[in-house]
Amino acid sequence: MSDKQGEGPGPATRLVKGGRRPEWTGAVVNPPVWRASTHLYTSEAERKAALAKDQDGQFYYGRRGAPTQWALAEALTEIEPGAHGTMLYPSGVAAIAGALLAVLRPGDELLVSDNSYEPTRNLARGLLARMGITHRFFDPLDLDAYRDLFRDQTKAVWLESPGSLTMEVCDVPALAAIARDKVAVSLIDNTWATPLGFTALAHGCDISVMSLSKHVGGHSDLMMGSASAGEHWYRRLRQTSHQLGQVVSPDDAALALRGLRTMGVRLERSTQSAIRIAKWLTGRPEVAQVLCPMLPGDPGHALWKRDFSGGCGLFSFVLTGEDPAASARFVDNLDLFGIGYSWGGFESLALPFDPSGIRDTMPWPPAGAEGAATMGVRLSIGLEDPDDLIADLEQGFAAMGAS
Ligand SMILES: *Cc1c(COP(=O)(O)O)cnc(C)c1O
Repeated sequence: MSDKQGEGPGPATRLVKGGRRPEWTGAVVNPPVWRASTHLYTSEAERKAALAKDQDGQFYYGRRGAPTQWALAEALTEIEPGAHGTMLYPSGVAAIAGALLAVLRPGDELLVSDNSYEPTRNLARGLLARMGITHRFFDPLDLDAYRDLFRDQTKAVWLESPGSLTMEVCDVPALAAIARDKVAVSLIDNTWATPLGFTALAHGCDISVMSLSKHVGGHSDLMMGSASAGEHWYRRLRQTSHQLGQVVSPDDAALALRGLRTMGVRLERSTQSAIRIAKWLTGRPEVAQVLCPMLPGDPGHALWKRDFSGGCGLFSFVLTGEDPAASARFVDNLDLFGIGYSWGGFESLALPFDPSGIRDTMPWPPAGAEGAATMGVRLSIGLEDPDDLIADLEQGFAAMGAS
């Protein structure tokens, strides 16, 4: 992992040291799991003083957390250059909703990148629409069309780069600069890269959202989300989150913190394996196109090289051929890859997908794979030996062809 993050300790060091305040950890390395609703005050005067101050890192009541959650939030803030603070949410989707509700009000319009995670699109179409917040989907690769979409009521832009299914990398600094120029807030789903791979706030975004269920947890055993921002938006996130009563358990916070400490080496390893496997897939007759910005030749590779300092194990490919049952046969016959949602765990996963029904402005299949089947397969490469994964994919393809 190269450090494009400027002065001070490198990202790997911050990953190890973040949030480990002596007053939270005591003599042990990690903060204990503080299970707490009630926090006892030593006097009425102390309770009143706490109420008046309303600060982070201060006991109040369990809904505002305890040292276990504070340590995780602080560690996430420390790895996101430009962040003043981080709010934690019970899932990534809750973080997306919490961030958008902190920014938008009835009458506002939200622009949503067309390659966004499906539940984000559903939130715009569902709850936000019911609240009188309108939305339009845009092609994040078409800057001119995007610029023309802004109207007086356009107050926020939702980005995801790369799109977590179809892997388009967009010019986030340019998209965020245009939004800023139009006095709109830019929010980004940075789950794929994490701040280790893409420093979203330093690249112009106002709020950076992550599903911690993926790379941060890293072991497929917890659900959580986060939103990090500079001071202004952090205050709004915090206020909205408190009003909505959003809180995460200390047990889950301890698990996420444990995952976070090793996230750098896990990401490096899965990135290397993913690049190897993606290269191998480009030579397969069953594959019309590999969608992997970490691969030279991919349409998103130049922007990825310019803006990102790391990758991860998640990428996709489009199948050739017209047989709709082929992708099912392929994944059914894999032994090492599980079939399932989520990603970023230590174990590899394969997920067939067809985004044709969830695209408003972007073409599918993508340019370069026209005429291919509409089915794609998304792979989340884990920590297994890449040679074993390649052998597994090879026998999956053999089973796919033989029917
Ligand atoms: C999984 C995911 C989310 C949602 O996270 P959960 O923790 O599952 O709610 C958000 N964005 C992206 C890109 C994801 O892959």
